[in-house]
Amino acid sequence: VNRRVSGDRSYHDKLLGGLLADGFDEGSCRSRYQSAMYRRRPGRQPSAHLVSKLRQQEALQRRCGPGTVAYGHALEQLRSGKSSGDIGSNECKYLVSISYRGLGNRILAAASAFLYALLTDRVLLVDPSNEMGELFCEPFPGTTWLLPPGFPLSSYTNFSISTAESYGNMLRRKAIRTDVGNVPAARLPVFSYVHLDHDATEQDKFFFCDEDQRVLRNVPWLVMRTDSYIVPGLFLVTAFQEELGRLFPEVDTVFHHIVRYLFHPNNHVWGLVTRYYDAYLATAQRRVGIQVRVFGAQPNSPELLEQITNCAQKERLLPELLAASEPAVPGPRRNTKAVLVTSLKSWYYEKLKGMYWERAAATGEAVSVHQPSHEEFQRFGARSHDAKAWAEIYLLSLTDELVTTAWSTFGYVAQGLGGLRPWVLYRPDNDTHVPDPPCARDVSMDPCFHAPPFYDCRLKRGADTGKIVPQVQHCIDMGWGLKIV
Ligand code: GDP
Repeated sequence: VNRRVSGDRSYHDKLLGGLLADGFDEGSCRSRYQSAMYRRRPGRQPSAHLVSKLRQQEALQRRCGPGTVAYGHALEQLRSGKSSGDIGSNECKYLVSISYRGLGNRILAAASAFLYALLTDRVLLVDPSNEMGELFCEPFPGTTWLLPPGFPLSSYTNFSISTAESYGNMLRRKAIRTDVGNVPAARLPVFSYVHLDHDATEQDKFFFCDEDQRVLRNVPWLVMRTDSYIVPGLFLVTAFQEELGRLFPEVDTVFHHIVRYLFHPNNHVWGLVTRYYDAYLATAQRRVGIQVRVFGAQPNSPELLEQITNCAQKERLLPELLAASEPAVPGPRRNTKAVLVTSLKSWYYEKLKGMYWERAAATGEAVSVHQPSHEEFQRFGARSHDAKAWAEIYLLSLTDELVTTAWSTFGYVAQGLGGLRPWVLYRPDNDTHVPDPPCARDVSMDPCFHAPPFYDCRLKRGADTGKIVPQVQHCIDMGWGLKIV
């Protein structure tokens, strides 16, 4: 690697403090080892325990992954429908993760599944549909994380709330019981479907209880579908707490480490990221990212534009503007600021750009405004659409300061990759009023879990799960959501 991206970084740690394994072929996935060069901030350091746990997981993935004897054996067991009895410590257990919906949702889902696999010594296999097999490089050396074709549960991609083998439904019809002491593994199913979607039922969410985890531990195959960042829920499971504490002594860095470890843009997407960065962002002294999440059918909103500018100016992310008649202040030297706007629409970008062209910045800064694409409508399963979304999430993560839209998983991924605590634009109560204050600094960079359980497993009754452990609190952008702080 011989390119210098910004003059002020002569040293970069391409393995991110040991987070990444060495020895991958660099050309097959240039982003993996080049990403550090594009980051002005080095990112947080992983703990030695996390680093060693990741190397162990990689070894497990190689020992049990597709193509191995152990994998063939486990598939046989799944086909036969019979659990072999006690799961020995050498036997391989699997977690198949189904990601769906928008790209942000999919990344949060797979990242959550990975942490759960790490905590429960399972091999993570990712369903390759929904572009999950195309946008990213392989994260584990010497094996694949993609579920190969021909998986015996042929309709697994259609599993839903009503699937009979879902953990919640099995509890409901008492096919699995947690109230009878240790269930012999031979009486457990060979697979269970864990439904942790936004519509998950109370029984589905018993997944976040200790006694349910004790049962699930002995089920060889789990298939999980979620569209959420379920990690705050894992912090509620007592049995995981000590290990989580050792893996992440800095508790707000969970997603920051996992997302940088797992998700490397493929070479095509990395080309989109680096060409754009080099052309429009690299030379500016400061970079501000503004993520404007809008929906295709919404009209352009002057109120939202006002909210964005109020927020950015109040928080001194963007300079105030001089009145047209005031003489511009010549800066002592020309300070440059590049603003990266991402949105499905171009209107917000055009307005911001016009503002800083037509009037001078009170600070004398030269402000340039950029937007890579405006796709107008969200589309599912369109390859170039997803590649642009992934490139834009990544570009946002390369900024120095970030403004995000409430509720958006697109923004969560950018903040986690970048290690940024964003300013979150509050969700307006109605479309014609500008929230005051317009935004707030988030309490941590970790994403918000939008569909958490409301249940105290020990007391066996409904409870505010934002008040059970100190690390898990409610989100500022979604009052009922949970996040790690
Ligand atoms: P969320 O819906 O805001 O939580 O974010 P998701 O990423 O899960 O889903 C939104 C999808 O809409 C993205 O994956 C993109 O396909 C598209 N999209 C939304 N905003 C943008 C944007 O600013 N740029 C691009 N390129 N696509 C976007």
